[in-house]
This record gives sequence, structure tokens and C-alpha cells, in this order.
Amino acid sequence: MQHQSSRRRARPARVILTLFTLSLVVVLSRTNGGCRTARNPSTPIEPRESITARVTRVIDGDSIVLDDGSKVRYIGIDTPEKGEPFSSEATRNNEELVEGKTVRLVTGKDPKDQYGRILAYVYVEAHGDEVLVNKAQIRDGFATYYEVSPNISRREELLHAQVEARDDHRGMWGQPNQGRASEDYYLASSRRFHRPSCKSASSIRRPKRLTNRGDGFDQGLSPCRTCKP
Ligand SMILES: [Zn+2]
Repeated sequence: MQHQSSRRRARPARVILTLFTLSLVVVLSRTNGGCRTARNPSTPIEPRESITARVTRVIDGDSIVLDDGSKVRYIGIDTPEKGEPFSSEATRNNEELVEGKTVRLVTGKDPKDQYGRILAYVYVEAHGDEVLVNKAQIRDGFATYYEVSPNISRREELLHAQVEARDDHRGMWGQPNQGRASEDYYLASSRRFHRPSCKSASSIRRPKRLTNRGDGFDQGLSPCRTCKP
């Protein structure tokens, strides 16, 4: 009996709480729509959010700065570091694609990296079409596919672009080994391949042995960013 009466008393409070929650949801959904233009860098980013912004600066082949100052790292690709072969070509290609333009960003399941950069698929309009910049950098031969879980939703599409770029000898694929010293063999995990001397390779439980780098790319593996095979 006592239990029942306390439940009856709690009811009006629960109704008020429900109404308050509902109104809060309405207010929040109005201020935080699915697609926004201006955003404060301190605002937390939700996974798979779509953001429209202007690119004020291209940092390199796979990262940019938006007009609100936030940095964006492209998902699923890796371009050569400064000073490496094809680094300046990759940067220039990225500049031609997005610099000063308005882009649409779709963040990954994991929306930011350890450096606080937004992880995104970046779209830009070109000749009436919407171009996925991440894919364009791979297709033009200025980036390799680089997988970081859980942001793998466009894996097949990006890998397909890499096959095209290799077949057509575009950009870096026009040079044997892209200017890198070759090894007698390479060691692979389920995602990466390494030079035999790489520290990370020694911690792979059952490494697969590859006879050349091409086998690694054929299998959809990404070259290690430390030993740069
Ligand atoms: Zn390595």
C-alpha cells in the first residue's frame, strides 16, 4: 500500500519532467540542425555530422583549415610528408581542389583524431558534380589508401580509386616504388605492411610475408607510416 501511494505522488512530477525534456529536445533540435554553416571550434562534433564551411588554407595533401580555424584531416588517405617525393604535388592538387572554396564535410564514426582535428570525407562542387576530395587525391595518384578503424565506410570506393590510379600510372604510381628503397620482402598484418626491420612488424603475431609492395596494395593493405615501405 505504501509503495502504491508513493508512486501516485510521483506522477505529477514525472509529467512535468517529461514536458520539460520534450521542450528541451525541440529547442536543441532547432539550434543544432543536421547541416550547419558556422560552427564554434569548441562545439563538440557529433559523428557523421554534415558541416558546410569555407577552406581558408591547405596544409598539405590530406589536411586543411576551415574559416572558423578548425583543422580537418581527410579520412582514409595518406599523402607524402613534406620533403618526400610527391609531397608538393599532393599539396598543389589539394589546393586546386578546395582552396578558397566552400566544402561539405561528413565526419567519421570517430569524428576527431588525437590532435583534435576533424576527421572527414570532404566534398566540393566541380563542373556541376560533387567530388569526394579524399577519393580524388587517391585517383590522381597523390595519396595511398590508409585505413584507420572505425572510419572505414568508404573503404571499397577508395580502394577502387587506388586500383585505377595504379593501373594508369598516375602521379606517384608513375615511378617505380614511388621513389622509395625496396626490400627483398615485406611483413604484413591484417591492415598494414612493413619493412622487415620495422619495430611494429616485430609485434605482429603471425605476419604475412609479401614479396613486393604491389602485393600489399593489391590486398588493400596500407603502408606503415613509420617505416614507409
Ligand atoms: Zn612499419
